[in-house]
Amino acid sequence: MKKLFVKSAERTLRCLVHRLRSKAIIRRFRLAAFLLWFGHLMVLVTVFFCVHLGFSNQPQYLVVGLGLLLFLPVLTIFRWIISSRTNCPLCLTPVLGGKNCSKHRRARTFLGSYKIVVANSILTKNSFYCPYCYEPTVLEVRQNPRDLADKHGADKE
Ligand SMILES: [Zn+2]
Repeated sequence: MKKLFVKSAERTLRCLVHRLRSKAIIRRFRLAAFLLWFGHLMVLVTVFFCVHLGFSNQPQYLVVGLGLLLFLPVLTIFRWIISSRTNCPLCLTPVLGGKNCSKHRRARTFLGSYKIVVANSILTKNSFYCPYCYEPTVLEVRQNPRDLADKHGADKE
C-alpha cells in the first residue's frame, strides 16, 4: 500500500515539473553548468600558477601564465553568452545568467552563489529548482500537446 502511494506521489510529482522545449536547450543548460564549474576551476589554476610563477622565478613558464590570463576573459565571455540563454521555462529568467532579480525565499546558496546550486543540480540530478520562482524543471524534452492528443486518440480507436 505504501509502495503504491509512493509510486502515485512520484507520478503526480513528475506531472507537475516543467520540461524544456528541445534537446538543443538541454545541451545548452548542461554546457552552461559545465562552463560555470570549469571557469571557477580555471580561476583557481591561474591564481595558483601565477603565485607559483612569482615565487619560483622561472621565465619559461611566463608564456603559460600569460596564456592562462588571456584565456580567462575569453572563457568568461563565452560562458556569459551561453548562460544568458538558459531561461527558466516558467518565469523566463536565465537561471545560470547574472540577473540581480530577487530570489525565492526557499532558494539555497552554495559558497554565496545561487548559480552553483543550479549547476550542481543540473550536472548531478538532471533537474533544477529555479532560484527566482522555485519551480522544479527536469532536463527532458516537453511533449507536444498535439502529439499527446494524437496518442490518446489512437488509444481510443
Ligand atoms: Zn523560474
